[in-house]
Amino acid sequence: MTNYRDEMHACEACGKPFVFTVEEQRAQEQLGFDVVPPVYCPQCRKTEKLQPGLHPGIVKWYSTEKAYGFLTQAEGGEIFFHRSGVSGDPEQTLREGAHVWYEVQETDRGLQAYNVHER
Ligand SMILES: [Zn+2]
Repeated sequence: MTNYRDEMHACEACGKPFVFTVEEQRAQEQLGFDVVPPVYCPQCRKTEKLQPGLHPGIVKWYSTEKAYGFLTQAEGGEIFFHRSGVSGDPEQTLREGAHVWYEVQETDRGLQAYNVHER
């Protein structure tokens, strides 16, 4: 087990410093992520759900029949994605536990991941 320590980072949205806690680092490790500090402080993560750019995710499950599935997010939540939002080889990209990048967009049904591709 890695020895983590609290780390200070500056939020890219508001510029304020925030702590990337040992608990958050362990949670990422347990979810199967490479441990990387969040780009935004906890406040901005809450208020700015539509953060631009690519986010790391892990395929939680995908149903070929239904053509949709869910990604586990680095913060511990999950996000919906549809087959049409996947680029690259779906056989590889959509297996359970696959490490992917994704972007977030707002739809009628809420937030959705798109531009899902292999990490
Ligand atoms: Zn912030």
